[in-house]
Amino acid sequence: MAKILISGATGFIAGHTIERLLSAGHDIVGTVREPGQTEKVRHLLEMDGAAEHLTLVAADLTDPNAFAAHTDVDVIFHMASPYIMNVKDPQRDLIEPALRGTLSMLEAAAKSNRVKRVILTSSMAAITDEPDGRVLTEDDWNTESSLTRNAYYFSKAEAERAAWKFMKRETPGFDLIVINPFLVIGPAHTQSINTSNQTFIDMIKGTYPAIMALDWGFVDVRDVADAHIAAMITPSASGRYICASGNLTMEEVVSLIREEGYGATKLPSMRLTGSVGTTLMKLASYAQPQGVGSYLRTHLGRHPRFDNSKIKLDLGIAFRTPEQSVRETLADLTKWGHIPAPETNQTSRKKGTIDMWIKRGLLALIAVVVIFFLGFKLMYGGGKPYPDVSTAPLIEAASIETPISLQYPPGMVAASPDGRIFYTYHMLHKPERFADATVFEWVDGKGVPFPSATMQTEFHGAMGVTADRQGRLWIIKPGALEGKPTRLIAVNMASGEMVVDHTFAKNEAGFAQDMRVSPDGRTVYLADTGLFRFSKAGLIVFDVETQSARTLLKGHPSVSPQNWVMRKTNGNPYRLAFGLLTFVVGVDGIALTEDGDWLYFAAMSHDTVYRVPSKTLLDQTLSDDDVAEQIVFVGNKPMSDGIELLPDNTLLMTDVENGGLATLSPDGTLTTLTKDPRVDWADSVTVAPDGSIWFTDSRLTDLIDQFAAPSDEATMRERGPYPIYRINPDALAQPLSE
Ligand code: NDP
Repeated sequence: MAKILISGATGFIAGHTIERLLSAGHDIVGTVREPGQTEKVRHLLEMDGAAEHLTLVAADLTDPNAFAAHTDVDVIFHMASPYIMNVKDPQRDLIEPALRGTLSMLEAAAKSNRVKRVILTSSMAAITDEPDGRVLTEDDWNTESSLTRNAYYFSKAEAERAAWKFMKRETPGFDLIVINPFLVIGPAHTQSINTSNQTFIDMIKGTYPAIMALDWGFVDVRDVADAHIAAMITPSASGRYICASGNLTMEEVVSLIREEGYGATKLPSMRLTGSVGTTLMKLASYAQPQGVGSYLRTHLGRHPRFDNSKIKLDLGIAFRTPEQSVRETLADLTKWGHIPAPETNQTSRKKGTIDMWIKRGLLALIAVVVIFFLGFKLMYGGGKPYPDVSTAPLIEAASIETPISLQYPPGMVAASPDGRIFYTYHMLHKPERFADATVFEWVDGKGVPFPSATMQTEFHGAMGVTADRQGRLWIIKPGALEGKPTRLIAVNMASGEMVVDHTFAKNEAGFAQDMRVSPDGRTVYLADTGLFRFSKAGLIVFDVETQSARTLLKGHPSVSPQNWVMRKTNGNPYRLAFGLLTFVVGVDGIALTEDGDWLYFAAMSHDTVYRVPSKTLLDQTLSDDDVAEQIVFVGNKPMSDGIELLPDNTLLMTDVENGGLATLSPDGTLTTLTKDPRVDWADSVTVAPDGSIWFTDSRLTDLIDQFAAPSDEATMRERGPYPIYRINPDALAQPLSE
């Protein structure tokens, strides 16, 4: 019988090796860090034959003389080495003990005249750091690991390299055999968990968020112990031995665990094994501790392949299959209480399966929702910041008057040819929740429901108002937001009688807002802004006599929003739905020349004002393409909402981003008329016969929430009152238009 020294006797592999050596009747000296720690060594002392043949002695790898007193032996198994993935100081905690321990063992052995063979437990980590798909053999060496990259691997490679160098340099009287195991799994002698077996516990307890593209080479601890014994008793054994049975991917391991009835609900089910998943997991690995992170980055998506024929041929090792080892490891982990017993009865398995499908369903649902939102953002949430085209203002904000002060934010304001001023509350604030009236005339310093308080229920949801030369006030109630048809009403301003009440067809004029009436009163032009990019913008021509409507230029680029992101007056971009939806608006402002020959139109999220001859719009024989051909470029503009024409065809526009007004002269010069820091959203503009300019601030960015919902009454009142602004002609050094 031989006398054997074995370092790291408390270890997982050492336990099985000692058990075999004892049963063969060998004398063993086992080194442990603290022999007095009864819990750690009890299993060894209780093994058959231990009382007669096992002696435990103290030795620490960091002590250069740790083994000197114990090498009066025939064979040495040097197994002790720290096997930890995450350490604070890799040099101190891994490299030093692995390297120093190996060398001090070899130096001590060399001083002994008895030692014939040293069997070093190295690792596949000394063969490869990052498997590259080649079939690995004993000729391969890990040259890539370092203190910062797979430091445990580095410790094993450095220790084994040093051992072979020592042999070459010192040519001692013993030979060196090295065993290079892959991941060692299998039943343990104690409750303490080996790093390799911990992987199964983590999977079953739900630590892994997903199935990753990992592929592990496995070997059973009992086969590793057999390989060490065979290396001892086979005289012809030489060099290194890859000690691995076969591979299982993480996906295969998870299926096997599930088949065995473990961890039904917590096992990872989301597959991140493709190239996208692997990239994601590699990114996520940076959030892991250094050791695990480095392992993931070097192993995800890689398939280790190896040739284990040498150990089979030279040492006669017949490996258990990885599947068998996994099954028996799971049973052992249950025995030691690390994982719950498998769910054997039909119901709990079924429940596990149902839970798994619910989990998968939820994950699939989350994936669909994420893809939907990404797609939505791509389609509706893009855009570039709109360039600031403002100039130095002609009129100081201080000279702007606020003759009208309201409880709720105004929408449109309209001056009639005889100087009456009408306005609405803005429909997006849903003022009808608190106010009976939403359409008013300004009479003697106060707002009077127009034409009467009793008629107001007809106007709830009103947006635009405009007065014509025939003494009618036109009111539009767009229906798109409420899924109702749009309604156009005209009221005789003298009698208060409703003279037109037209309901558009369901998909017609859904978001019609601004209107202008031809001088002869026979045609109403309406701008349908469309609803963001969900529905198309267009111009509507309404024949008053026949009460029929035609939509023109629907979705044409001149009436559709461009891909701009609007700024709020505080400079921040204006988006809705927490950035998913850019606030874009199509054709909004329209204006008619005095003679009614040209219709000017401007999409809000657009950089250009156009005009088109009204006779083109009225000619029913022309197609949309024919009409488009007649569109004429007028000039550039700010992000504008309402527009109005002055008698000399100078165009007056609101400037939403700057809280003011701008003018575009017939020669194309764009000038900022005023910027008022009080204004949030310059909305509608009208010019009274006395030359005064009236404009509203609808306070949309201030009061409408991320999902276009209005504020509650308390907030509205708190942030009020809401003025309608007026610029008197004498505020201008030069009249805008003669
Ligand atoms: P264990 O962690 O179970 O055993 C490691 C042994 O090394 C323990 O006895 C431990 O003692 C001892 N040790 C660690 N640091 C020191 C130190 N500073 N001084 C003295 N003793 C020390 O691991 P395994 O049984 O799995 O591993 C045994 C050998 O096999 C190691 O060399 C390992 O690198 C190698 N290996 C393991 C693989 C695996 O998957 N398990 C795969 C490939 C190689 P203590 O109990 O006091 O901590």
